[in-house]
Amino acid sequence: MRPALALRLGLWYGASFLVSAIALSVFTYVLLARALAAQDHNVLESMLARYTAEFQRGGLVGLQHLIAADEGEGRHERLLVRVVDARTEIVYFSEPPGWGGFDLSVLDRPLARDSEWTTIAHPPDGSVLEVGTRRIGGGVTIQVGRSSHVRDDLLANFRARSLEVMLLTALIAAAGGLVLTYVGLAPLRALESTVRSILATGRFDARVATTGTRDPLDELGSLVNDMLGRIQTLLAGMRGALDNVAHDLRTPLTRFRNVAEAALVSGDPAAVRDGLAHALEEADRVNATLTALMDISEAETGTMRLALGAVSLREVADEAVALYADEAEEKGVALRPAIDPAVHVHGDPTRLRQVLANLIENAVKYTPAGGRVDVEAEARGGAVTASVRDTGPGIEAEDLPFVWDRLYRGDASRSARGVGLGLSLVKAIVEAHGGTVAVDSTPGRGSVFSLTLPAARP
Ligand code: ADP
Repeated sequence: MRPALALRLGLWYGASFLVSAIALSVFTYVLLARALAAQDHNVLESMLARYTAEFQRGGLVGLQHLIAADEGEGRHERLLVRVVDARTEIVYFSEPPGWGGFDLSVLDRPLARDSEWTTIAHPPDGSVLEVGTRRIGGGVTIQVGRSSHVRDDLLANFRARSLEVMLLTALIAAAGGLVLTYVGLAPLRALESTVRSILATGRFDARVATTGTRDPLDELGSLVNDMLGRIQTLLAGMRGALDNVAHDLRTPLTRFRNVAEAALVSGDPAAVRDGLAHALEEADRVNATLTALMDISEAETGTMRLALGAVSLREVADEAVALYADEAEEKGVALRPAIDPAVHVHGDPTRLRQVLANLIENAVKYTPAGGRVDVEAEARGGAVTASVRDTGPGIEAEDLPFVWDRLYRGDASRSARGVGLGLSLVKAIVEAHGGTVAVDSTPGRGSVFSLTLPAARP
């Protein structure tokens, strides 16, 4: 697998992780800044109330003592304190060192209410001075202010730490993303290497390594394995069929050659004529085998042209029976068609005759003298089931599933003529009609081959 995909996925994963982490810390930062500002405001408010109360009780001297005591104890953060008398003269002013940058002139403005809050910004360092003003009796006002320096430092510290944490998070996210995608894509890599090895060797026995967990990628691997198994079976089947065809064609062709050679060598006109007749027979046999093979594959692949219509089953059965009537009589086998003339199926008459002829041929061929072959049909629902029943040797249960296979021939039938294509053709044609085939057999008692086809629409 090209590393680009894993890298891309890993980076996407890492990036989304990082973006979430950044969003989280921005949110935390905003909450923290608000909480600190609110806390500063509360402290300021309580100090203003405290100093106001002291001023009312002990006057300016009392207030000075309290401020000095507070500073001495270091209990309170130092504050800006201003007392202005009725003539707007500043009678007391104290400001912590280093706060000189704020423009305090706005504090001199006359008050609109008894209590007011003012914020004074100091743009060069972004700090803010918050001042609470309270008017008390006699036109005196007390002002207590607090700079945002302390919380600004705290927040700056928070930002610097967050940046470090983000850098670390970015590294962890990228590494984690890469590891996760590498591990997550392992089934795809296994799939890729299997497909590659099949392409390289042309052998379908390679399988995708699966873990048995039921996650979708592992499931895909198992599905591909099932598919490979299916392809392998099909290929083996096709190879086997091809070998069989080659073998089955070689026998008549060798006979053909031998007959022709013997006739040629003998020089006797009668022997030549005999040989030619023989050769013709063998050629016909080869031709029939090839035609059957081609018909089967046409029917199986759906390219067989069917002239569909309402077909009288009785008529096609009679025509098929007529082909084997002489043979049956010679053998002493009773061949009895018994089909209701009213039974009609939807199909191609030529192909259906071929189907019945194949079944009747087998029945007559395999049934010994004294036996009987019945050709029957029964309409039920929208379907018609036709059957060819014989009192022949029957088929062993273990052979039954294979009788429909191409070129399959039961051991007992080796002596009888045939190449093992008849039943495959029957099945392929019936299925091309949308029907089904079935066989039921009891060894020693006989067999019933049946086919179910759609009934003709009235
Ligand atoms: P073939 O008859 O040329 O051998 P088929 O495809 O028609 O080939 O049949 C396949 C096999 O099924 C036969 O070789 C035979 O073993 C078995 N078979 C078919 N029809 C019958 C039957 N009526 N009775 C017994 N065995 C049968």
